[in-house]
Amino acid sequence: MQNVHSVTGPRLPMSRKSLRLSKSRFTAGLQCHRQLWWKVHEPRAPELKPDAGLQAIFDMGNRVGERAREEFPGATLIELDYRRTQAAVEATRKAIEAGAAVILEASFFEDNIFVAVDVLSKEDNGWVVTEVKATTRVKPQHIPDAAVQAHVVERAGLPVTRVELMHLNTKHRHPNQGPLFTRADITPGVTELRDEITNQASAQMRMLEGALPEVEPGAHCNSPYECPFLARCNAPLPDHAIEDLHRISAKKLGELRDEGIETVDQIPSNFPLNGIQERHREAVLRNEMIVVPGLQAALAAYRYPIAMLDFETINPALPVWNGCRPFGKVPVQFSVHTLSEDGTISHDTYLAEGKGDPRPGVAKALVGALDGAATVLAWNASFEKECLGILAESSPDHAPVLLEARDNVEDLLPVVRNHVYHPDFRGSFSIKDVVPALLPDMSYDDLDVSDGQLASAFLERLLCRLEELTPDDRKALPQQLEAYCTHDTAVMVRLFEVLQEAAVA
Ligand code: SF4
Repeated sequence: MQNVHSVTGPRLPMSRKSLRLSKSRFTAGLQCHRQLWWKVHEPRAPELKPDAGLQAIFDMGNRVGERAREEFPGATLIELDYRRTQAAVEATRKAIEAGAAVILEASFFEDNIFVAVDVLSKEDNGWVVTEVKATTRVKPQHIPDAAVQAHVVERAGLPVTRVELMHLNTKHRHPNQGPLFTRADITPGVTELRDEITNQASAQMRMLEGALPEVEPGAHCNSPYECPFLARCNAPLPDHAIEDLHRISAKKLGELRDEGIETVDQIPSNFPLNGIQERHREAVLRNEMIVVPGLQAALAAYRYPIAMLDFETINPALPVWNGCRPFGKVPVQFSVHTLSEDGTISHDTYLAEGKGDPRPGVAKALVGALDGAATVLAWNASFEKECLGILAESSPDHAPVLLEARDNVEDLLPVVRNHVYHPDFRGSFSIKDVVPALLPDMSYDDLDVSDGQLASAFLERLLCRLEELTPDDRKALPQQLEAYCTHDTAVMVRLFEVLQEAAVA
């Protein structure tokens, strides 16, 4: 919970009557009063408009919520229109009076807080509040989320005997091995928060009646969720800020700040840094890429032909194909650029299509693409290894080749991390940070699809929910996704060349 340090500026004319909390506002207020203030007083702030990636997560949550309702056949569903919440509250009251035993989206408004309970079920001595989450486990932030609902239900006069979190079951395998959902009793955690909910709700209401509160930015800005207003509260960092140092500890960061040091080049040479951080400091001071001995030998260890491999995957919350679990990874696309010793390059790519299981097609095409490769090279190879294992499991005919490839995949990332530092890496060895520094002409910015999360969201729509796409998108998306995946391995080829040149320079 956040402390409000002070209240400044003119008080707003908004009356207590026109202010109200909801479950999501309340939990935002638990993270930070300042964030809640903006969310209530500036609901149309540009920062609150979800980008495509966040919208995909919201849509996934809605799909899981709708699927969860099927677990309660015969339940009474309260039609919820957030512009007419009083109508939903009234409909809930009538459903209870009529003797409904299970109510979906049961709506209540008490203590200036509106909540719509995913599932409210009658028991002998009271009611069970069930919150549905599109996750595979209970997370700490789920407890206050459910607690505020239980609080409001009780204030409405219904005794709450139990609070449950219903989430996806990791043991489920599509289509019908084990239940899709499982439930956890979170009543003890909710009970512990009972008094805090009342106090916090009052504090939030008082705060909202005043002007924007001052809250110091800190660890709470990213926990449990990244605050959308980070840029409003934090001044932009200078170039080569000490915060960029690779895996710098909070203790060391504090020591540097105490000395008034803001940028990497200001760090004294006797300050203890690890090898990567030291290279970072040296690269910034010399304003050039640092290469340490051993790079040439590391690259020379790869035998030609070298197949540069990259996968794209989808992780449907609700599994679609046989044997898949909730959020299970499914490789649906790959790109392979193969570099021969004489410098020739060939390219293979594959993108699954249609609603059928994509894994056999991906596996078969990949076996062909890797045929003859002496080395399979990836960036951050644990992901590619996992994908190869998944494909081998689902395609027994190709398993021996795929498993052999998995066991021999080489990783270019640690080679760079251990031998190279460019001043523009900014402490990161993500391909998205390394490429702009070493290959400025191969930026991802010009691509229509420019990050993996977005690619995954589009791929899932293309393969599982084609009906959501316009005819234009159905035509354009496969090309955009091909371009993105192809770029990932094209940059590896160029990166390999740049590293070879740097190693002998
Ligand atoms: S950036 Fe931090 S301090 Fe500012 S509103 Fe968000 S959580 Fe609060």
